[in-house]
Amino acid sequence: MNNQQRIEILTSYQDNPMVHPLTCGNNSLHNLVPIEENKKVILKCLECDYTQLLDDKFIKLLRDLDKVQREMIEWFKNKVKELNNENTINS
Ligand SMILES: [Zn+2]
Repeated sequence: MNNQQRIEILTSYQDNPMVHPLTCGNNSLHNLVPIEENKKVILKCLECDYTQLLDDKFIKLLRDLDKVQREMIEWFKNKVKELNNENTINS
């Protein structure tokens, strides 16, 4: 995994409305953004300089969580559409 991929995974996770985003250790209302610093990807609070280090094992877990949750949203939307269509036909 390279830093570009790490940043993509973390950005996608932090933007996913179905998961709880990783937030600042000083104030949970502050959002963290992935940035590259000294050749390592970290999460940084833009409001108070809090930083969170992440190992690859954790980043892979976030990638899987993000993926599964996004698939669930799609599945759910399709299912609702399907049910709506059925209801329209039957009514
Ligand atoms: Zn903060």
